[in-house]
Amino acid sequence: MDFDLTESERRFRDDLRDFLDRNLPLEWRSRHPKEPWTDERRDLARRWQAKLAEGRYVALDWPKEWGGREASLAERIIVQTELIRARAPRIIGHVGLDLVGPALIEHGTDAQKKRFLENMRTSRELWCQGFSEPNAGSDLGGLRTRAVLEGDHYVVSGQKVWTSVAEVADWCFLLARTNTDVKKHAGISALLVDMKQPGIDVRPLRQLTGEAEFNEVFFDNVRVPKENVVGRPGDGWKIAMGILAHERGPMWAFMFHGYMTEDLSQLLALAKRRGLDRDPVFRQRLARAHGDIEIMRLLGCRSLTAESRGEHLGPRTSLEKLFGSELSQRVRELAMDVLGNEALVGLDDERAAWEGRWLRFYLFSRADTIMGGTSEVQRTVIAHQLLGLPR
Ligand SMILES: Cc1cc2nc3c(=O)[nH]c(=O)nc-3n(C[C@H](O)[C@H](O)[C@H](O)COP(=O)(O)OP(=O)(O)OC[C@H]3O[C@@H](n4cnc5c(N)ncnc54)[C@H](O)[C@@H]3O)c2cc1C
Repeated sequence: MDFDLTESERRFRDDLRDFLDRNLPLEWRSRHPKEPWTDERRDLARRWQAKLAEGRYVALDWPKEWGGREASLAERIIVQTELIRARAPRIIGHVGLDLVGPALIEHGTDAQKKRFLENMRTSRELWCQGFSEPNAGSDLGGLRTRAVLEGDHYVVSGQKVWTSVAEVADWCFLLARTNTDVKKHAGISALLVDMKQPGIDVRPLRQLTGEAEFNEVFFDNVRVPKENVVGRPGDGWKIAMGILAHERGPMWAFMFHGYMTEDLSQLLALAKRRGLDRDPVFRQRLARAHGDIEIMRLLGCRSLTAESRGEHLGPRTSLEKLFGSELSQRVRELAMDVLGNEALVGLDDERAAWEGRWLRFYLFSRADTIMGGTSEVQRTVIAHQLLGLPR
């Protein structure tokens, strides 16, 4: 099995490196590829996405007529890896680019594509994903937000939760129940909802880290034109499952690999400064982390190879999500142990090691095994669909 870049992939990577050298000023680069959002960082990230869009280095998998490159998975992974390596600002329009855009391209009308795709690509408009509800997360099919057709509008009422970036989003890709007379999955529709209108109340949820990166969103008789349904009414479940498949898989594997590689190199330096590089227990744990990070990369390469052979990745992507998210937690727990008592220094205390990043990443890593499908759900998929065990 050959995991090296092909000649054309190498050229593609070199062109990208050249683009980054010319367009990513030093002062735009982050201290870590996964810095938390601040207002300033968001502004910068919007400008950065617009710059990437000029070079057609976002929405790579979209059709050329909509500003994409119809790029291969390998090329998309090269871009993601190089952006992490260069410490470029995080992609702020991820929900639009990776989830809503592909859904519109596959199921949307021409009018929807014309209205939304270019603004999504350039980050002129930001999107959030309104799926989860207080009683519908893993069991998304049980969602209760209602959209009732009245004339030429749907009237939406209900509550969403954990909605990332809703506080700044212009639009929401919303799942709502439009029919209660059919089986629960068949009654769900996907709606494009303007977030800047009366009846929408966005309430930030403060996380363990002190930041508020996601929200509760309340809809009270919100009017949505009926031409803003994606696909046909009742297609929402099918469309959502297609979207969620985008969240997992080799892109995850290489993203985690990028972040973990960065963290481990910082961690090694920290362990050396504290003389823990001679401690037999820490040496074992650091060596294991290095091995696991390499396994993460190889899992990604394996899926990439399968994909290039035209194989359907399907449930195998659950392995990457499960392994990567749990690895992220192990590495961050190891960092806390290397820090010892110093891990107790408060997040905003100027004495906190690495400007508080270790503690912040450690606290945030609890989310890794929840977002995009919990570890229990991934294990159930693996048990049932890969191992053939009964439900
Ligand atoms: C950082 C972050 C960002 C997010 N962003 C968004 C967003 O932008 N938009 C959005 O819609 N949602 C978002 N979510 C929500 C996310 O999709 C849900 O948290 C996730 O689907 C789990 O649902 P839940 O929180 O309701 O937990 P539940 O489904 O209630 O699960 C609770 C516990 O029960 C377990 N469990 C549930 N069902 C089973 C089962 N069948 N078998 C075994 N165990 C089970 C779970 O593993 C978990 O441990 C985000 C979450 C996080 C952490």
